[in-house]
Amino acid sequence: MSDLLLRGGRVLDPSSGRDAVADVLVRDGLVASVGERLAADRVQIIDVAGLVVAPGFIDLHCHLRDPGLTYKESIASGGRAAAAGGFTTICCMPNTDPVIDSRGIVEYVLRTAAAESPVRVLPIGAVTKGQAGKELAELAELAEAGVVAFSDDGRPVATSSLMRHALEYSRITGRPVIDHCEDVTLTGGAPANEGPVAARLGLRGWPAAAETIIIARDLELAALTGGRLHIAHVSTAGGVELIRQAKRSGVPVTAEVTPHHLTLTDAWLLGEGLRWPATGTTSLDRRAPYDTRTKVNPPLRGDADVEAVIAGLADGTIDAIATDHAPHAVVDKLCEYDEAAFGISGFETALGALLALVETGAVSLERIVEALTVGPLRVLGDLDGRVSPGRIAEGCPADLVVFDPAHPWTVDPEHFLSKGKNSPLDGVELPGRVVLTMVAGKVAYRA
Ligand SMILES: [Zn+2]
Ligand SMILES: [Zn+2]
Repeated sequence: MSDLLLRGGRVLDPSSGRDAVADVLVRDGLVASVGERLAADRVQIIDVAGLVVAPGFIDLHCHLRDPGLTYKESIASGGRAAAAGGFTTICCMPNTDPVIDSRGIVEYVLRTAAAESPVRVLPIGAVTKGQAGKELAELAELAEAGVVAFSDDGRPVATSSLMRHALEYSRITGRPVIDHCEDVTLTGGAPANEGPVAARLGLRGWPAAAETIIIARDLELAALTGGRLHIAHVSTAGGVELIRQAKRSGVPVTAEVTPHHLTLTDAWLLGEGLRWPATGTTSLDRRAPYDTRTKVNPPLRGDADVEAVIAGLADGTIDAIATDHAPHAVVDKLCEYDEAAFGISGFETALGALLALVETGAVSLERIVEALTVGPLRVLGDLDGRVSPGRIAEGCPADLVVFDPAHPWTVDPEHFLSKGKNSPLDGVELPGRVVLTMVAGKVAYRA
């Protein structure tokens, strides 16, 4: 392992409040020191003047499709794509084939990640066997095998009773239950946000109430059990408000939002009236309607919801930004809107999209980095060092990202390291990019 010195970057570490030009010396995989004009004997020097040096990003929510659907993504390709996005730890959802609901599959993911992924991969175990919503998986055994959370993501935990028991196990295991909030009796697989856009396009609507009903149910159950509840991909104003009130009442809940729900609206399904980002002032050219790359679950929402999730992120109601990276093969999206797969390939555009949001003035860069580092770390706990440290401090593993906040580039999914080329941002110019990602002092990605 080579020692190196990152010279003259803007070190931005929300955990300590540090935001100043400094050198970072990395030795033996650890941060050896941070300070001005550090001496550097026999180390590789990387000049990072003008760039931001931040703790490596932690993604609470992604889909790696491995085992079983590796034509969409694999632990290897997903890990490389995550590194290109500045992530040093990623948590992968269990809706694989087979589902991550047994010790053997957890061990497969951990073993494969250790051999093939340049970033830390932490598996999330299913709440119910086969994610079928019938009976609980062996949650204590899954925790012992190494899962960092439980989720039936892709669908909600089917019943109040199952959720109650899952939250009781979360108290015992110390692992949160990550909640995909969708009342499927209201959505019925609908592809678009219920509202004027869906009506104009003749698409079935996914109402905001389908999200808030399940959030309300599970906040009640978290209050009842004292179990740790984490709300995935909040997308509605009502959802943000419920979480805000619950936190005030001391309910043990945390929440995440995706870059796409912060920056895109359902106007992108229409292909007209597009602004980038959604709350910004730049108008984009008309695009084709029914672009299946805009299809995601929960769906892209209207202006008021996007403003509410941004406000929730800014005021700390929402703890973390998570990509919900959901890669698909071209064929999965090459069909009518109603039939297309849900999901956006998100690792490699996350930072750039968030920098565009920062440019609107709605959220500070420091808050964004916090929500990508200490925010998710607090959701997971440090798990005896299995998670990136979320800070840049002497003696910590050197999990770092270096990015250029002012290096515009145009998204071309053909250049993604992810196998998933399904990005609605195809052709959009983003203001900045990742330059270097390091995990335990090893270079995981370099532009
Ligand atoms: Zn989900
Ligand atoms: Zn998901």
